Amino acid sequence: MTMKNLCWIRRDLRLHDHHALSMALKNGEETYITFIFDETILKKLTSPIDRRITFIMDSLKEIEVSLNKLGASLIVRYGDPKVEIPKLVDELKINGLYFNRDYEPSAKKRDEDITKNLQKKGIDIFSFKDHVFYEKTEVLNGQREVYKVFTPYKNKWLETFRSQESVVANYKCNLKKLKTNKNSNSLLKVDWYKIINFIETESILKGGTTHALKRLENFKKNISNYKMARDIPALNQTSNLSAYIRMGNLSIRDMIRMSIEGFDEGHSTWLSEIIWRDFYQVILDAYPKVETHCFKAEYDKIEWAGSNAHFKLWCEGKTGYPIVDAAMRCLNESGLMHNRLRMVVASFLTKTLLVDWRKGEHYFAEKLLDYDLAANNGGWQWSASTGVDAQPYFRIFNPYNQSEKFDSDGLFIKEWCPELKLFSSKLIHYPHESDMVEQIEAKCFIGKDYPHPIVSYKGQKEKALAMYKAIK
Ligand SMILES: Cc1cc2nc3c(=O)[nH]c(=O)nc-3n(C[C@H](O)[C@H](O)[C@H](O)COP(=O)(O)OP(=O)(O)OC[C@H]3O[C@@H](n4cnc5c(N)ncnc54)[C@H](O)[C@@H]3O)c2cc1C
Repeated sequence: MTMKNLCWIRRDLRLHDHHALSMALKNGEETYITFIFDETILKKLTSPIDRRITFIMDSLKEIEVSLNKLGASLIVRYGDPKVEIPKLVDELKINGLYFNRDYEPSAKKRDEDITKNLQKKGIDIFSFKDHVFYEKTEVLNGQREVYKVFTPYKNKWLETFRSQESVVANYKCNLKKLKTNKNSNSLLKVDWYKIINFIETESILKGGTTHALKRLENFKKNISNYKMARDIPALNQTSNLSAYIRMGNLSIRDMIRMSIEGFDEGHSTWLSEIIWRDFYQVILDAYPKVETHCFKAEYDKIEWAGSNAHFKLWCEGKTGYPIVDAAMRCLNESGLMHNRLRMVVASFLTKTLLVDWRKGEHYFAEKLLDYDLAANNGGWQWSASTGVDAQPYFRIFNPYNQSEKFDSDGLFIKEWCPELKLFSSKLIHYPHESDMVEQIEAKCFIGKDYPHPIVSYKGQKEKALAMYKAIK
C-alpha cells in the first residue's frame, strides 16, 4: 500500500521551512497539499473587499506557481473544513493528515473535531509546533506554570534558547514528492474571488514569500537602528513583517535567525518583540477566556461610560486629536498601523473616551492586515490595563505628549490629516488652540475643516480614574 499524506496549510502559507510539510514529505511516499477557504471564517467578514483575502490569494498563487513547476498542484476548496478535509481524505485515500498547530480557541476546537472524526476512521493525525518558537509547555516558571509577567518569561525564554544547540531548526521540504490532483481547482485558472464572494483589492503589502523575504533582507539594513527608531511612526523603520508572519509567508525561525545575526541593541530589541509575540500566543493558548473576558477578572466589572457616538468618531478619525485621527485614517486606508500609534489610539479609546476595549479590538480585527487574535487581544488588554502584565490603570497616555514626543514635526499627522499641514510644528498637535489669524494662515478652520476635540483629555482622565477605581 502506498503511504499517502495530506498536508493542510492554514496560517502557514509557504513551502520552505514548514514543519508539517517537511514531516508529511519525509514520512509519505506521496504527499498532497491543500488549502480550504473556510466559509465559517469568511462569512463573518463584514465587507466583500478585504485586503487579507487578496493577501492570502497572492500567497496561494505563488505557492501554486512553485508547485506547478514541479509537476504538482495545490488543492483548493471552499467550505467548512470539518466537511472538506474528511471528504478529501476519502477522495485521495489518505493515510495521514499533517498540519501545524493553531492556538486560537475556535481553531483548536475545529482541529480537535476533525482529529476525532478521522481517527475513528483509522487516519493518523500529526500536528506540529511551527507558528511559535516555544509553546506553552516549554517555557515555565519554578512552579511549572505559564508565566504571567513578561520580563521573567523573556529571561527564561532566552535561557532555554541559549541552552539548546543548533536551536533554530530549518525544516527541509523535499517538494519533489508532492503530487498533483486532477480536481485541484487551480487558483491560476479559476476565478476564486467569485467562488468565495469577495472582490480583489489593492494592498500596500503584497502577499507571498518572495515579498516577505525581500522585506526581511531590506530590514537587515535597518535592524541596528531599531531600538532608536522604532517609536517614530514617520520614520517607518520597523520591519513591517507582521502580516507575513501572521499568514506564514515567513517562518518564525526565519525571523529568529535574523534577530541573532547581530549582537547590538537593535537586534536584541527586535528579538524581544518576537518574544512578546510568543508570550501572547501562550497566554491565549493557556487562558482562552481572554478572547472575550479581561485577563484580570475584576476588570470585567468596569462600567464603561463611553458613548457609541464617540466610538464612531474614533473609528472614522474625527476626534479632533490629530495623532489619533491620523493613526485611525491610516488604518482605514491601508490596514496598517505603527505599534506606537496602536498604543496611543487604544489608550485613547479606553481611557479618554471610556469605551470598552472589546469594541476597539473588534474594529482592529476587521481592519488590520496583520490581524492576529493573540497579539491584538494582548495589545488591547495591555492598553486597557485589563490584561496579563498590563500597564497599571492609572497610567493614561496623554495624546498631546505622545504626539509631540513621537511625531515632533507632525510629519505623520500631515500625511494622514492633510488639512492640518500648514499649521506650525507646535500647533499641529493642538490645532484647536490656534487663533483666527493662525487658522487663516493654515487655511484650516477648526470646527469646519477639522473638528474641535470631542472631549477634554483632562476632564476624561479624572472620569477614567474614577471608573477604574470603582471596581476596587
Ligand atoms: C492595541 C494593539 C493591537 C495590536 N494588534 C496586533 C495584531 O493584530 N497583529 C500583530 O501582529 N500585532 C499586533 N500588535 C503588536 C504590534 O503593534 C505589531 O506587531 C507591530 O506594529 C507590527 O509591525 P512590524 O511588523 O513592523 O513590527 P516590528 O516592530 O518589526 O516587530 C517584529 C515582529 O514582532 C512581533 N511583535 C512586535 N510587537 C509585538 C507585540 N507588542 N505583541 C505581539 N507581537 C509583536 C510582530 O510579529 C512583528 O512583526 C498590536 C499592538 C497593540 C498595542
